[in-house]
Amino acid sequence: MQLHCPACGYENLTGAEVCDNCGADLGGHDVPQQAGAFRGRLMGAQLDALGIPEPIIVSPDTSVAEVIDRMHVGEADSVLVV
Ligand SMILES: [Zn+2]
Repeated sequence: MQLHCPACGYENLTGAEVCDNCGADLGGHDVPQQAGAFRGRLMGAQLDALGIPEPIIVSPDTSVAEVIDRMHVGEADSVLVV
């Protein structure tokens, strides 16, 4: 992806702080745009469409070792303790 200079329209390499063509400050123009596009794409989606797997639900008396085993098997980053 390239970074459009807001002053002259020149396409700079991503991460450039000033425009290679005119020297205008590019700082901060790329990151907010990417974040906005990301949020905009997800905000309209149904949760089902994201392919989120069923949560792993454990009780408070489940041992930590067992929870870790289940997270490995389910490739989960977290569990629900109910
Ligand atoms: Zn420029």
